Amino acid sequence: MTSKIALVTGSNQGIGFWIAKKLALNSIKVIVAARDSTRGEAAVKELEAETKQSLDFVQLDISDHESVKNAAHAIQTKYGQIDILVNNAAIAINRDFSHELFKTTFAPNYFGTLDVIDNFLPLIKKNGVIVNVSSQAGALNILSSEDLKKQFSKEDITEQELKQLLSEYDAAILDGTYKEKGWPTTAYGASKLFLTAHSRALAHQDRLKSNGITIFACCPGWCKTNMAGFEKPPRTAEQGSEKAVELALGKVPNAISGHFYTSTN
Ligand code: NDP
Repeated sequence: MTSKIALVTGSNQGIGFWIAKKLALNSIKVIVAARDSTRGEAAVKELEAETKQSLDFVQLDISDHESVKNAAHAIQTKYGQIDILVNNAAIAINRDFSHELFKTTFAPNYFGTLDVIDNFLPLIKKNGVIVNVSSQAGALNILSSEDLKKQFSKEDITEQELKQLLSEYDAAILDGTYKEKGWPTTAYGASKLFLTAHSRALAHQDRLKSNGITIFACCPGWCKTNMAGFEKPPRTAEQGSEKAVELALGKVPNAISGHFYTSTN
């Protein structure tokens, strides 16, 4: 039997590296996707030495549409289809909130991730799985408006509604009313709030449902990585990888497509 194939974005370091490692240890053929070829190829070597499995590499900068398209084309040419897509790559910039920070953060974390989904979805096999590594930093409590909380928690939220919400947020940042309107004051948290809700919106779309493709969002918990730092977070990157791996392997009992999972659910 041929092994399943998984692509993990941003898997040259941190939590993504551990997701790639655990999947490889579960006999999945893993494609390490990284924006920097030197770092990505070095990770493949390290992972091959540690897992005794053969992995592959593809250059993929999630905020560069050409790179996303080229990566999807390369994977289609080489493998035809994949079984698992883990959208792990993201950035968190420690800077005062501004419209520029919002745009810079949403480019990879939200729009880049959605672009990867759009381009790789046609390559995902029937009954395949997409896991979006999101964050509790994007939980509903970063909204201080009850109305916004209600809108973002809708089980049947649509892509169109999210587009509208995003344009309202954008406008409120530009005219300086975002705080009084109850919008987030953290660009990173906001990007994950939108990603978690968008995972729910995608779960209901025919392009996934008709092929039995499930999609999940998850939070790794606060982990020691370059993004979060190594002193304060209580969890290791290995621990942080667990939920994404369980979801990718279909090991979370009764998991519901579109839902958000943490280390405790
Ligand atoms: P790291 O900074 O250690 O790793 C992030 C990875 O994403 C790196 O491989 C990085 O590549 C890659 N990346 C960033 N931008 C791009 C891009 N444009 N294209 C392709 N790859 C990119 O972070 P973590 O391991 O901590 O984070 C992994 C995921 O977990 C993220 O989605 C993060 O939001 C989430 N998360 C992390 C938490 C934590 O406490 N660590 C808590 C909650 C969620 P490069 O090496 O080239 O920079």
